[in-house]
Amino acid sequence: MEHSGVLPDRSGPGRRGGVPPRGREGDGHDVPTEREPGHQCDLRQANTDTVCRIVATTESLEDVWSSELPAQAGMRWVQPHTTVFTGDVDTACGAASSAVGPFYCPADQDVYIDPAFFDEVLVGRLGAPPSGAAQMYVVAHEFGHHLQTMLGDIRRSQQDPRGPSSAAVRVELQADCYAGLWAHYATSTPGPGGGDPLLESLTDEDVDEIVRTAEAIGDDHIQSSGGARVDPGSWTHGSSQMRRQWFLTGYDQGSIRACDTFGARV
Ligand SMILES: [Zn+2]
Repeated sequence: MEHSGVLPDRSGPGRRGGVPPRGREGDGHDVPTEREPGHQCDLRQANTDTVCRIVATTESLEDVWSSELPAQAGMRWVQPHTTVFTGDVDTACGAASSAVGPFYCPADQDVYIDPAFFDEVLVGRLGAPPSGAAQMYVVAHEFGHHLQTMLGDIRRSQQDPRGPSSAAVRVELQADCYAGLWAHYATSTPGPGGGDPLLESLTDEDVDEIVRTAEAIGDDHIQSSGGARVDPGSWTHGSSQMRRQWFLTGYDQGSIRACDTFGARV
């Protein structure tokens, strides 16, 4: 089911010994969680274990953005917090349950993910392919919101919260584009100290699964699969076609500038 063998085995001596290896400045990942005490990962498990895959993806994102943000925007990347939770969670944006799906809270700069979302909602309800790469895309999208917070764009969504060309939709499409940008560089950006890229390969099949997932979480598809009328005026994230297009823009071009969804016709 989880075919995506995209992460190399780095558990050998001299490599990073296990995930999370970067807990150093208190900037790390809240794994273990309350419900999963002592959830320890090594990178081999990132191919089979959802929590370990999330953690490994956050590290790949750190590698890419720590390289690309200074190079493309002259800014230093600050890694967000990531909280893996089950059931309910308290955040600076209020209490939330896993029903809301993965989200980013700008107030505490924390990405919140209940791993059950992937199988139960993404695959089970919305018909996305069961795909490790697709899970990585979802994490990368949430990190896109963190970059928007750093760049000051995220607040735009509140001013114009719904509709197919609303600021809210543009914010979401831009996060998809930033996820694509991560995928563009993930297999070539060296790890810390010039080590191998954390992501070994991203196959055409992986990219296809990501695109199908982006389509599955388009507002039109969510509405129609829930038996509702497709109502563009209520959209907050954009259509399947828009989400596919903007992920691929980031993936093909690898450019923050190319992700200007505010300047583009959407
Ligand atoms: Zn989003």
